Amino acid sequence: MYAKRLQQLKPYVPGEQPKDREYIKLNANENAYPPSKAVSEAIASTALIRPEVLARYADPDANALRKAVADMLNRTGGCFCNAEDAAAKITSPITPDMIFCGNGSDEVLSFVFYAFFDSDRPIVTLEHTYSFYPVYAGYYGMQLEKVPLEKDWSVNPEALMAAAERTGTTGMIFANPNAPTGRALTMAQIRSMLDRFPKDRIFVVDEAYADFGTESAISLLSEYPNLLVIRTSSKSLSFAGMRLGFCVGSPDLINAIITVKNSFNHFPVDAICQVAGQAACADYSYYAANARKIAETRDAFSARLSAAGYRVVPSCTNFVMVEHPSIAGADVYKAVKEAGILIRHFATPGIENYVRITIGTPEQMDALASVMEKL
Ligand SMILES: *Cc1c(COP(=O)(O)O)cnc(C)c1O
Repeated sequence: MYAKRLQQLKPYVPGEQPKDREYIKLNANENAYPPSKAVSEAIASTALIRPEVLARYADPDANALRKAVADMLNRTGGCFCNAEDAAAKITSPITPDMIFCGNGSDEVLSFVFYAFFDSDRPIVTLEHTYSFYPVYAGYYGMQLEKVPLEKDWSVNPEALMAAAERTGTTGMIFANPNAPTGRALTMAQIRSMLDRFPKDRIFVVDEAYADFGTESAISLLSEYPNLLVIRTSSKSLSFAGMRLGFCVGSPDLINAIITVKNSFNHFPVDAICQVAGQAACADYSYYAANARKIAETRDAFSARLSAAGYRVVPSCTNFVMVEHPSIAGADVYKAVKEAGILIRHFATPGIENYVRITIGTPEQMDALASVMEKL
């Protein structure tokens, strides 16, 4: 009764959510702060005052939400760190037909793989990057060419380009800033790659963490029609449970993704999420302030762990990758869990000595640092 393909699947393993006791949860890169009040009000007023909305199918293309996302991107210059000189960053405005919204960016990624990557040539990606890419490649029977990171965990753009040329790639995808390392390429580096990358292949930059401290490649979209930028509301918009991801690219690319979406599920973004998402985008200044707070907490926490002898990979995200000078990553993870704090350990060869720590509130990080200083 089971299909043969089922045995080939290697599912993604998310951060654990144990229920045996109360933990401080710093293992899934969720936002330390709750959504804005405007979001709760939008949800409550839909549920209480206009509940008939829930009885009807939602807008299949989430057009009002796409407009709200485009407005937020234009006002912030592509991401929260660009907000101060937004006008300088986006020269031609993002329009709603350049946005696709899905049920979390994981779903958006699935549609992007289906729409743009062929199986006859490899997709070029990084060796240590978001672990859903290999899962989707397996799901769709696609090949992956994984490019190693440098010793300091930085990404070598020339190594990516060389792999693209060597393999005649079907397209490129990587996270910037990268996960679980936290390091980012500059826009000058990405631009230089795009200048040399084949114009008839897709170039995907997954910016799940851009709001915490990098520039966004959204500023390059008007020059490179083969560029697609993936974003999520799960991290910087405190929406991991709501499930809202989006991508930004030329209207032609977006229409291709809509074709895939309409061949799978017409309505990936439900009625409540559409309303809540609009409220969140409109209140972006609340989230931008939280992202700045998280970046400050991250830098203070990183300095404290470094002073205690840990190797801390410099991060521009809401997490840090950390290595104890003598204790293995799995044991650091275990000791911290026994103290009531969840962090993430990947048993993946190459990064198995590290743990990945989500940045929470200053109080949470203080509790964790006290535990880690004693190890
Ligand atoms: C968290 C994350 C995602 C997935 O986000 P969802 O919108 O919650 O599905 C995608 N890419 C990267 C790099 C991530 O870290």
